[in-house]
Amino acid sequence: MLTELFDIVQRFMAKLLPQTRGELLVYSNSRDVLEGACNWAQPAALAQMAPDGCWALRRGRSYRFEPDALSFLCDHVREQSHQGDAPYICVPIIAHGDTVGLLHIQFDLGRMEHDILDPQSFAIRCGEHISMAIANVKLRDELHAQSIRDPLTGLYNRRFFMDAMRRSLGATSMGEKGVGLISFDADKFKLFNDNHGHDAGDVVLQAISEKVLEVIPSDAVACRMGGEEFAVIAPNCTAKATESLAETIRAGVAATQVRYVHGALPRITISAGVSFYPTHGSSPQALLKQADEALYAAKAKGRNCIVSAQNRTN
Ligand code: GH3
Ligand code: MG
Ligand code: MG
Repeated sequence: MLTELFDIVQRFMAKLLPQTRGELLVYSNSRDVLEGACNWAQPAALAQMAPDGCWALRRGRSYRFEPDALSFLCDHVREQSHQGDAPYICVPIIAHGDTVGLLHIQFDLGRMEHDILDPQSFAIRCGEHISMAIANVKLRDELHAQSIRDPLTGLYNRRFFMDAMRRSLGATSMGEKGVGLISFDADKFKLFNDNHGHDAGDVVLQAISEKVLEVIPSDAVACRMGGEEFAVIAPNCTAKATESLAETIRAGVAATQVRYVHGALPRITISAGVSFYPTHGSSPQALLKQADEALYAAKAKGRNCIVSAQNRTN
């Protein structure tokens, strides 16, 4: 987690360079501003700053300001008027070739006696280490996201599904509410691919995913289990509400019009099977098996419909 890393930076910088105050800022997602991530000994840390007012960010390398030399103050330092003319250094934080933030360190003129011979070079080295640490955390987060997501639709994958089911079952307390599971599969999708091409099929799978994300509650988890098969976990839900959610998904997909290259593709439908914890099983595998069997029953019934596990006898 990046927040844990920022905590460590804050504590270590205060210890390593006690004669300084400073701040680490990182680019916001929109990349138009940098936001304060952590600071040490900094009474008025910046919550935000514009990147184009910093000489280090403009030049893409560290920038030293010396009050008696011919150098210019960065805008973000000028805004902190109390900091006056103290020497400072700005170090861009670069992870995997991208500038992701800024380390700003201000040196206290009155207290320059310390063990470090060249605190400014030392500050640059700190910036390099922070860059590397951020790059590692980002890489780990990206790899983790890739390992639990399906790349075509952005939904969670089968591996995540199993973990999420286990967590949901574990978190359920006694009462009317349990965990709903909806397993669904696109109808006659092989024929659709044969008629319109695999790429058009992919666009339809993406449209189905978008529709599902649009209609499920925020605590529900949507997964692509493989091919044209999907599952939704509805934690903290009643059996009735799970069935009605399955119906909402079915109707939503059936009403979805997908445009592709030269115009609208024929509408696609899904069939769904619903199972419910604790009624139909106590393990993810058992509940999935029940939902899948209900799904096969929905296919046998003529497709574009929902079947619940307990009503499956017909
Ligand atoms: P049913 O109504 O019984 O489910 O019929 P179906 O044709 O959907 O079932 P079947 O399992 O025979 O075919 C599934 C098809 O889904 C076959 C395969 O080409 C297609 N498919 C699986 N994964 C993908 C994918 O990632 N993209 C596309 N475009 N098609 C896929
Ligand atoms: Mg199918
Ligand atoms: Mg299938």
